[in-house]
Order: sequence, then structure tokens, then C-alpha cells
Amino acid sequence: MIRSTVDPSAKPNWLSKLFGWALPKRFVAVPVELGEVLDRFPEGFFIVDGRFNILFANEAICNILGIPHGHLEGQSLDSLKWCSSMPRNRPWHEALRTARSQRHNPEGVPIAVGDEQLMLYERSDQSRRLLAITVREITGLSIPDVMVISVRDATVVETYRAEMEDLLARVRRSREEAHQSNEELRQLVTQDALTGCCNRRSLDERGDILWQNSTTDAAPLSCMMFDIDHFKSVNDEYGHATGDEVLRCVGTSLRHTFENVGEIYRYGGEEFCVMLPAYDLNAARSIAEKVRSTVSHLSVHSATTNEVIQVTVSIGVVDRDSGAKNIGELIHQADKCLYMAKRNGRNCVVTYGPEVASARFRSSDR
Ligand code: GH3
Ligand code: MG
Ligand code: MG
Repeated sequence: MIRSTVDPSAKPNWLSKLFGWALPKRFVAVPVELGEVLDRFPEGFFIVDGRFNILFANEAICNILGIPHGHLEGQSLDSLKWCSSMPRNRPWHEALRTARSQRHNPEGVPIAVGDEQLMLYERSDQSRRLLAITVREITGLSIPDVMVISVRDATVVETYRAEMEDLLARVRRSREEAHQSNEELRQLVTQDALTGCCNRRSLDERGDILWQNSTTDAAPLSCMMFDIDHFKSVNDEYGHATGDEVLRCVGTSLRHTFENVGEIYRYGGEEFCVMLPAYDLNAARSIAEKVRSTVSHLSVHSATTNEVIQVTVSIGVVDRDSGAKNIGELIHQADKCLYMAKRNGRNCVVTYGPEVASARFRSSDR
């Protein structure tokens, strides 16, 4: 057909007719050479008429589609084996609709239509290619609706991109998993498993930071020490499992109470330490009173003996205005208040003052 060697005396074929009518002047004389030039383009393209009949398909597009050279002309573009999309949604249909609607607009000018769209094509050997398609209406022709459809084989690029996306998704997932494991590990290391409060070890780390922050900001910092009264007798009377249940219940109550107020640590067996940044002694004392009352009204149901158990707590309270020079001293002063609360009969709150400061306690005092 058009790709035969040039014979100037040959009768013009359909393409030369078309180009003879339609192409800008510089092409009119050399339609056959034009075909040869177009064949050298590395990018594939079709030229189709307004009914989507293929007027011309260059060599690159034949190679991409796996169709012998020269076999596409005269076929309908829609009759090729496109795997995706309904015909009316195919880019050349959309492009033609857009171009026609533009022409109804008196201000409208012929436009180059459409962005690159991906379409899947199945070759006769059933291998599939992902094609990036761009449609352009040829402007300046006397035949309306002729379009150039350029086709880029994006299979390799798209496969590579999909693999990269998959890889990135896997990296993201494993990062999230690592983050989750780190978080679980952090909780294991910093949290007390029985009560859900922070553990003593994390107080050792956080304490210095809290002290430093309050120094820098010249802000108050209070400390409370809690100890469940006569807890040993709970264990003795109801068993260790029930004792655990009581600890869990008191721990949960304290966590809720101090959720947005302070930081709560399980300090020892049935002892809790609470740090209250921004609270001075008076504010801390009134909170301690409320907590003491709340705990005394808690009812813990013993699963083993089916009895309801009630406990009380003794509380020592101090703030940094009482003269502590570091977090260790602050905790020690709160602990002395707690000893005093035990000495005073338990189920009460004692704040730091001269009486506590001068008192001497032995560990057997509580
Ligand atoms: P006080 O009012 O003076 O504080 O008396 P107490 O009986 O509470 O104090 P004591 O120090 O004599 O006893 C504390 C008990 O707490 C002893 C210990 O077996 C128990 N205990 C410590 N940790 C746990 C725990 O995790 N679970 C249970 N069930 N008991 C615990
Ligand atoms: Mg106790
Ligand atoms: Mg104790």
C-alpha cells in the first residue's frame, strides 16, 4: 500500500487522496514519503476518521499491538481487542464529543483534546499491554473529525511503578508494624501489667524531667504517695487473687481520677505515687481528699469468696515549695507524710509541714 517505494506516476491511493485533500500544503506532494517518515516515529499512532475507522497506523503501533504492518488500515479502532472500558468511554469517543461541542461554541477554536489515558490491550498471543493513549484532533484540515491517536507502550513502566508501589506499601506496613511493636515494647517496659499504671522504673526516668520542667517554667509540682491500708489482711482473708483484684480496682480508679491531671505510678506492692505538675500543695491536698473518699466507697467483689471487699488508703502530700532540692527528696517527703498518715490512724491525708519534717519513722511504723 502506501509504503511501497515511491513511484511518482502511481495512482494516488486512499491515503494520498486523504492527505492530498486534507494535509497542509507541504505534505501534499509527498504522501508516500510521509508514510515512511511516520513509520520511523518511535511512538505509535493511528490516524482515524470521525467514525473511528483507521486511515493510517504507523509501524510502531503495529509492533506494539503485534499486528502485521499494513493490516490495520480500514479497520474500526473499536474492533481491536481493548480489554477495558465501554466504547463510549474510550478516549477517542470522549475526544470527539468534546471537539464537537466546542464547535457549537462560536468563540470555540478547534482544540487538542485529552490527557494521556491508560488502556489495556490484548494481543493475539493473549499477552496484555498497558497503553498510554493521547488523542488529538488535527486542526486545519478540511475534513472534520480526523484525529491522531498516539500510543505509548507503558507496560514496563506501569509494571515497574506497580511493583514500586507494592514495595512502598510493604515498607510502610512493616514500618507500622515496627512502630506497633515498639509501642507494645514500650508499654511492657514502662507499664505495670496488673494495674495499668506506669511502673516504678518509668518514674525513675520521668521524675527528673518533671522536676526540670517545673524548675524551668517556675511552675508548681506536687507529689502524693498512696498506700492501701491493711492490705496484707485482704490477702490473708480472701486470698492473693482477690488481693490482686483489689489492687486492679484501686489502680483503675486512680488512673481515671488522674487521667488529665497528673501521672500515676505503681511505686511498690500496694503503694502508688502521683506526680501533679502545675498543682500546688493546697490544690493537691483537696484532690487527695476526694480520692481518699472515692476509694473508701469502692466495692470489690471477690470471685473466690463471693464477698464484697472495701478498702481505704492513706495519703501523703507535698509540693516543691516545702524545700525539696530534687525529685528524690520530694518523693521522700511525700513518703514521710504517708508514714504520718499511718501513725494518725490511716484512711487520712497528711500534708508536709514542720511536724512531719521533724518526725522520725522506722519502716515498721507502717
Ligand atoms: P499498712 O496499712 O500499714 O500499709 O498495712 P499493709 O498490710 O497494707 O502493709 P504491709 O506492708 O504489712 O503489707 C503489704 C502487703 O501487700 C504484703 C504483700 O504480700 C502484699 N502485696 C504486695 N504486692 C502485692 C500484689 O501484687 N498482689 C497481692 N495480692 N498482694 C501484694
Ligand atoms: Mg499498706
Ligand atoms: Mg505498703
